[in-house]
Amino acid sequence: MGRRIAIIEEDKCHPEKCGNYLCIRLCPVNREGEDCISKNQLTKKATIDEVTCTGCGICPKRCPFGAIHIINLPEKLDTLPIHRFGKNNFELFNLPTVKKGSVVGIIGRNGIGKSTAFEILSGNLIPNLGDFNAEDKELLKESTITKYSNTQMGEYFRELYSNNIKVSYKPQRIELISKIYDGKVIDLLKRVDEKNKADEMIEFLDLENVKNNKLSELSGGELQKVAIIASVIKKADIYFFDEPSSFLDITSRIKVARLIQSLKEEKAAVMVIEHDIATLDYISDEIQILYGERACYGVMSISKGVRNGINDYLEGYLPEDNVRFRDYKIKFSRSIKELNQDAELLVSYKNLKKSFKNFSMEVKEGEIKKGEVLAIMGSNGLGKSTFLNMISNRLKSDSGEINLKKKDINISYKPQYPVPEDITVEDYIKRHAGEEMKSGWYQQNILEKLNLKSILQNNLLHLSGGELQKVYVAGCLSGESDLIILDEPSAFIDIEDRIHLAEVIKEFAQKKDAACVVVDHDVQFVEYLADKMLVFQGDPGKNGSVIGPTEREEGMNLILKSLKITYRKDKDSNRARINKPDSQLDKEQKSKGKYYFI
Ligand code: SF4
Ligand code: SF4
Repeated sequence: MGRRIAIIEEDKCHPEKCGNYLCIRLCPVNREGEDCISKNQLTKKATIDEVTCTGCGICPKRCPFGAIHIINLPEKLDTLPIHRFGKNNFELFNLPTVKKGSVVGIIGRNGIGKSTAFEILSGNLIPNLGDFNAEDKELLKESTITKYSNTQMGEYFRELYSNNIKVSYKPQRIELISKIYDGKVIDLLKRVDEKNKADEMIEFLDLENVKNNKLSELSGGELQKVAIIASVIKKADIYFFDEPSSFLDITSRIKVARLIQSLKEEKAAVMVIEHDIATLDYISDEIQILYGERACYGVMSISKGVRNGINDYLEGYLPEDNVRFRDYKIKFSRSIKELNQDAELLVSYKNLKKSFKNFSMEVKEGEIKKGEVLAIMGSNGLGKSTFLNMISNRLKSDSGEINLKKKDINISYKPQYPVPEDITVEDYIKRHAGEEMKSGWYQQNILEKLNLKSILQNNLLHLSGGELQKVYVAGCLSGESDLIILDEPSAFIDIEDRIHLAEVIKEFAQKKDAACVVVDHDVQFVEYLADKMLVFQGDPGKNGSVIGPTEREEGMNLILKSLKITYRKDKDSNRARINKPDSQLDKEQKSKGKYYFI
């Protein structure tokens, strides 16, 4: 057995709410008179002495907020980590390998050190090699170079710390960019345009219409594109992209993938963290898996080929190391749910038309039933909001028929990125769910499945992007709404949680007899989640039309046909893989009209 570590997630430690340091009162070592668990005089949180802790397992079981983890590290980790954030804090054991002229895709759970690895490799964080009290940065840099001296990473760190490596970094939380700079898009991009390519990139990613807008006026997808362009047009030796596909439609995901791939031609090294596995698959030349335990420790696997790397991740098993890092496999095959043909109608519509000054849309015949989960995919700017407002009686159509089951449909809406309030998770959810929050069903099917129980006492302002997303989805899936609209619920959420999220949404739709409309661009997530599809087509920003609801496969096929993209299914994992344009499979599927799988 390897070294034992004790982790305390300080944001989950609430001594005043657990009965005044419950863990201290329960620890057998403390009861014998030693200070195994004590109060941190500065933070007032619990702290554990890893030397005297016997690993009895009482405190992690009894802490009501799941703040404590006692971990026996695997034997092979009997070395010091590359970085530890502090006493009782997360440890990262190794780093992905930087390779010039290659795109390395990083896959792993949230909270397992992916961003920390990027921070270290970009020079923003000097690793402490486990000695979290060390203060001499120059000495730490020397020690890091020495630690890696037998590998190419030793040379990388030598060059990095001599300021001979230029880094470009696209962060995960793009919405924070407009808080730092709220000028016009064009002014920001011109300021960082070292390759004189800003105009070309603006055209390539269709930002012409918004280039004179301020950053705070952009949609999530537009802001993501600006952040990506700003990174790409800097001259750099290494580029980091932390979740580049969030908020982008499929066409843009593929364009961005090509853009990132093109950096190889400049002989740059590229690293990408991505949770949309179809995009990760398309973007990467190799894969490294980061595994371990969330908030506790992270370990990077060796580099693997893209297909095997992603499939091993889904299996939860690394064959070359004989390591099982998850006790279940992620499977995408789902049983086709028998849709209730007698389900009550929520709304039906026929031949709707609506025109604005610069945009017009047409909607063919369709009906939405209670209990259904509908997915909207396709490009942005085709009138999703206009359509949803018309069918919910919030916007009058110019012509056509709408029949609503009742006069006012109750709608719950989760926008792309809601602004967090200064409130605890518990109070936020209570506000939406009321007394239902206490029910067994809600506790089990929403709070437990979304892993929210342990953060109920946390403030929304201090949550990660993924946690915040799940809290807002939970808020939306509360109360008695007829129509739930979730705009991009998969953003910032890892693959495991995307599966849980899909199950929660499906379960809610059935139990509450509500229709859920989900706007999302992760093909795998949508395929797993949706009963039916609403297909949006047209010329973004100018005109749009809506077909459906259609059967899932038919809808996918229609959308992908309009985007001229084909997907195949991986024979081992069943996951969707994007075909390279003009590849044999791409041509074959197009000639058969099978844009979605063969
Ligand atoms: Fe209470 Fe848990 Fe914090 Fe210990 S770790 S003081 S049991 S909240
Ligand atoms: Fe004390 Fe360690 Fe047991 Fe926790 S696991 S109660 S710290 S001995």
